[in-house]
Amino acid sequence: MNNRALPLTQEKISVPFQHTDNNEKSRYPVPDRAGTNVYLDDTDFQQLLKIYMPAKLLTHLQPHLTRLGELAGAELDELARQADSNPPTLQHRTRDGRDKQSILKHPSYVEMERLAFSEFGLAALSHKSGVLGWETKMPAVAKYAMTFLFVQAEFGLCCPLSMTDSLTRTLVKYGSPQLISRYFEDLTSQDLDTLSQGAMFMTEQGAGSDIAATETLAQNDPKDPQAWLLSGDKWFCSNPDAALAMVLARHEGGPEGMKGVSLFLLPRTLPDGRDNRIEIVRLKDKLGTRSMASGEIRLRGAKAWLVGELGRGFVQMADMVNNSRLSNGMRAAGLMRRAVGEALYISKHRKAFGASLIDMPLMRPQLSKMMLSAEQARTVMFQAAEALRRSDAGEEGAYALTRLLTPLLKFRACRDARKVTGDALEVRGGCGYIEEWSDPRILRDAHLGSVWEGTSNIVALDVIRAIKREGSLPIWNLHLDQLIKESKWHPQALYQLAQARVRVNSLIDSVVNNTEHEEVTRQVASSMYRVTAVVAMAWEATQYESIRRMTLAQLGLIHQLSVQDPLKARVQPDLTCLFEESQSKGRVETVNLFN
Ligand SMILES: Cc1cc2nc3c(=O)[nH]c(=O)nc-3n(C[C@H](O)[C@H](O)[C@H](O)COP(=O)(O)OP(=O)(O)OC[C@H]3O[C@@H](n4cnc5c(N)ncnc54)[C@H](O)[C@@H]3O)c2cc1C
Repeated sequence: MNNRALPLTQEKISVPFQHTDNNEKSRYPVPDRAGTNVYLDDTDFQQLLKIYMPAKLLTHLQPHLTRLGELAGAELDELARQADSNPPTLQHRTRDGRDKQSILKHPSYVEMERLAFSEFGLAALSHKSGVLGWETKMPAVAKYAMTFLFVQAEFGLCCPLSMTDSLTRTLVKYGSPQLISRYFEDLTSQDLDTLSQGAMFMTEQGAGSDIAATETLAQNDPKDPQAWLLSGDKWFCSNPDAALAMVLARHEGGPEGMKGVSLFLLPRTLPDGRDNRIEIVRLKDKLGTRSMASGEIRLRGAKAWLVGELGRGFVQMADMVNNSRLSNGMRAAGLMRRAVGEALYISKHRKAFGASLIDMPLMRPQLSKMMLSAEQARTVMFQAAEALRRSDAGEEGAYALTRLLTPLLKFRACRDARKVTGDALEVRGGCGYIEEWSDPRILRDAHLGSVWEGTSNIVALDVIRAIKREGSLPIWNLHLDQLIKESKWHPQALYQLAQARVRVNSLIDSVVNNTEHEEVTRQVASSMYRVTAVVAMAWEATQYESIRRMTLAQLGLIHQLSVQDPLKARVQPDLTCLFEESQSKGRVETVNLFN
């Protein structure tokens, strides 16, 4: 199935990326980090992978991570910049006058598709063996680690990537054997000419957060008892020309509300080669993700197949949405890492008043705050990926933990990414506001994370749903207890942590057992996220004996989870670490976070 858009030109895309010698660069007054390998530059990430990824797999992936890190800091970033400045356009006719809709994507975008789907197999590696030469399917952490690097250059394409991956997962989980055998191979193809990309069409004009208001109608196909005909408008459809979409629709004669909503697989081209009755009405003119098309779709009796059970659409789609939400949180973590990487580089190389920015007392707390949010996001991302692996392996309690960690990450990391990308922009000064630098693009992209796949309010409410329906709370507390047991906390910090946990649990209780307190739901989600991040980060610090990471964990504890006097000067405690005595030999260490 050919889902590939014709490039605007047949010429091979050339990327005018010039690698500049570091010595030469250091002579320029305006620092430019381009050309940095974002994998090799990130020593914490390399250490974290040793904790979360099986050693053999990590060794195997090293050359791929290194190459992707190099691309993301150079050519891929330039492709992303070009694609962002040349958004896709909708064509309604062929040049010889035939009515046929297609989306013209800039060659830079097509080249990024090649890298993501084809060379690195990012949408396929969780589903089939042989991708990147690995003998089995890879665990979720491999996909998130690779995409975490990719997204530091390009955010928009990560949406089709994630939807293709998630659609395959949902199809394999709930689809009939016939549907799976018909579409699996193309969904996981690494050849752009045979690849079928995925999409999900849920949102309607009157049904965004409120899925129960879905009006798109599904009627039995009178000519084919296995098929359904879908009619209605879908208001937000990213990757609208995808070969396959998961669609929510209300089956004729079904009950009102959520129980009447079912999940369907909608192909763009029918098995006999005819176009399906799908019209792309127009493309959206978006603030961010401008490289990737999002549009409005009209279904005019489009043929589709039921996935799973009738009336279980929302529950089944929730699996796809949860997977996408985890991916969304990972992308927010990646954007923040990019922002922090840029800010640190600039701070070390930009001079003002005869000194480097990084040596200025007022700059250091700014950088440490940004760094804290970015590191917390990737800690919770790794925790969620590990919970997902255990859940897929059928381990007891792991599903409930994944169901909780996913909305926690999606909610808080996406919100933090808005701020961190904005603050990093400011570190670059005036240049940060200029489109030839990465900051404006990353800032615009970051703002989407907390809107799509559930707004902040909706995702925060999902945290409470996970607690109430999946019994996630005791499992979360047990998980934290275990991590603490395996960590080397200083008794003083441990006491402070215990106090914070008591207060957070009582805050949770006030919402879970009192529906009138719904307005504190976001506060609950934020505090649960931060407790998770602080505890898991201290655990990671213990695993690779990093006083720096322990200090960051403590920063979270002090600034986000402890009672503070807003009028008391906050200076030294920011950069001291109360590591467990056997580690620090009883000393309170002063730590440089920015090495
Ligand atoms: C660029 C882009 C791409 C998108 N791509 C897709 C796609 O591919 N497929 C798809 O299906 N959708 C897509 N969406 C749609 C997106 O998921 C929805 O916009 C989002 O879920 C919100 O729905 P809505 O726009 O109808 O807003 P509404 O649901 O009307 O929400 C408006 C506001 O009300 C708040 N709100 C709603 N209910 C509650 C509540 N119970 N309590 C408190 N506050 C509440 C929300 O938090 C929000 O702030 C995309 C959106 C964008 C911007």
